[in-house]
Amino acid sequence: MYDFIIIGGGILGMSTAMQLAERYPDRRMLLLEKEEGPARHQTGHNSGVIHAGVYYTPGSLKARFCLEGNRATKAFCERHAIPYDECGKLLVATSELEMERMRALWERTAANGLEREWLEADALREREPAIRGLGAIFVPSTGIVDYARVTEAMAAEFERRGGQLAYGHRVTGLEERHAEVVVSTSAGEFSCRYLISCSGLMADRVVRMLGRDPGFTICPFRGEYYRLPAQHNHIVNHLIYPIPDPAMPFLGVHLTRMIDGSVTVGPNAVLAFKREGYRKTDLSLPDMARMFTNPGILRVLGANLRPGLRELRNSLFKSGYLEEVRKYCPSLTLADLGEYPAGVRAQAVSRDGRLIDDFLFVNTRRTVNVCNAPSPAATSALPIGAHIVDRVQEQVEA
Ligand SMILES: Cc1cc2nc3c(=O)[nH]c(=O)nc-3n(C[C@H](O)[C@H](O)[C@H](O)COP(=O)(O)OP(=O)(O)OC[C@H]3O[C@@H](n4cnc5c(N)ncnc54)[C@H](O)[C@@H]3O)c2cc1C
Repeated sequence: MYDFIIIGGGILGMSTAMQLAERYPDRRMLLLEKEEGPARHQTGHNSGVIHAGVYYTPGSLKARFCLEGNRATKAFCERHAIPYDECGKLLVATSELEMERMRALWERTAANGLEREWLEADALREREPAIRGLGAIFVPSTGIVDYARVTEAMAAEFERRGGQLAYGHRVTGLEERHAEVVVSTSAGEFSCRYLISCSGLMADRVVRMLGRDPGFTICPFRGEYYRLPAQHNHIVNHLIYPIPDPAMPFLGVHLTRMIDGSVTVGPNAVLAFKREGYRKTDLSLPDMARMFTNPGILRVLGANLRPGLRELRNSLFKSGYLEEVRKYCPSLTLADLGEYPAGVRAQAVSRDGRLIDDFLFVNTRRTVNVCNAPSPAATSALPIGAHIVDRVQEQVEA
């Protein structure tokens, strides 16, 4: 019998496991991951941005954990000799409407306690000669890192503190009893006193395995990227983001310097026809059947038909995608958009058709389940892990 079992070898599972092992050094713990290694899903397919906390509703978990996580991630990287770059980010307005939205973001960054600088068009051009805009907000604390490396370092810490990692173990069933949770997997049965689920794209299915109605469904949104050719590795000095439409949950196609020195463009946000479907052609009939009969998802699709179709068009036709980037980086051409692997976001949708905005946890007597942890959850992984360990401690001491 284990004291704690953690499901999921992404950054949230590993962060939680590492911090649990620190708080409870004498307890037996096991992390179950269905893939053959860590960070094979969202954690290993993202933009690698250490977000500062620009966009999030003041007072929300996202705003709080992102701000804390920005500092904590950099400190963790320093302790573990993981390269990161505090390169800063520019939010660039390219129209009068975006200038108006930029003013609202300026207020929000103040409410979220961020250091930032307002740049007029000339100052923007001086700082970023390849970028055009009417104005920009500069946020210096944004950085870049390889989150797969961060996750590997967390896994090593967990093992060093006595935790066990079991890759190739898919959780297939759960039973919460009076004094234990029984966990069935593709490689045998285990039991534990407390269970933590950080299962990303499968979060709702794990809650269902507990016999609970989760009240939300995970809707997978693929984020497609391109990589610029090496001669453009210095086209920008900072990360370049558009001013997002506040009605949309995603940040818009951005120019991201990656920690390996390359520059990517993306990600867009297209509905994926398979939960772990990384290619445009990936589809799963059972996943599609569940999605297209889910009232919440149908409402979201109905309410976002126009932007959804635009994203789909830009996914199918590179020229549409290019147009989005050329709004602020006009020198790029179709030939500059080279292949780069996509990621799939796990976005929870409520039954009444809302894209759930904040991080969401669902707890039972012996389990803590991470149910909505989209961006900036990689940035926020250390405070989210600490938050989960506090919830588990409350259960242990209850
Ligand atoms: C395109 C894209 C760009 C992003 N950009 C950023 C960014 O720049 N900055 C940022 O902070 N965040 C970003 N994010 C968000 C961030 O990547 C995620 O929020 C974060 O990685 C979530 O971590 P996780 O551990 O919850 O999920 P995951 O990394 O998806 O891990 C979940 C794990 O659970 C395992 N699992 C699921 N079901 C089972 C089962 N039944 N049995 C065993 N194992 C199971 C899966 O195999 C997987 O390894 C981005 C996400 C995407 C997709």
